[in-house]
Amino acid sequence: MDCIFCKILKGEIKADFVFKEEGIFAFKDINPQAPHHILIIPEKHIATINDLNDEDALIMGKMLLAAKKIAKKLGIQSYRLVFNCNADAGQEVFHIHLHFLAGRKFTWPPG
Ligand code: 5GP
Ligand code: ZN
Repeated sequence: MDCIFCKILKGEIKADFVFKEEGIFAFKDINPQAPHHILIIPEKHIATINDLNDEDALIMGKMLLAAKKIAKKLGIQSYRLVFNCNADAGQEVFHIHLHFLAGRKFTWPPG
């Protein structure tokens, strides 16, 4: 499968990992949009949020808990979490990932 994030998990592409827990991994974004920009991903290849099944509920919960744990580790209280679903929402890598962004002030609505 030609998926960048699966290749990162297999060690075929290097990444700067910051968190690992059963079935969940997090590494620094290669093109950070904030002082802290971390991607939280499941080990399981799921292309988009639209492809989730009920059985993936635990994985999704673990991704959110990973965000909380990463924030605590970094000593951060304020952060933004983003899932982009499909191209019009800005999704470029089709292996679901939760963007963890922190370290600057964010505006609303997003662009
Ligand atoms: P999306 O636009 O799909 O929501 O986000 C994909 C993210 O993956 C982007 O922020 C992009 O910078 C990041 N990214 C793409 N390729 C790589 C890579 O090879 N390594 C890392 N660490 N991040 C990547
Ligand atoms: Zn993948």
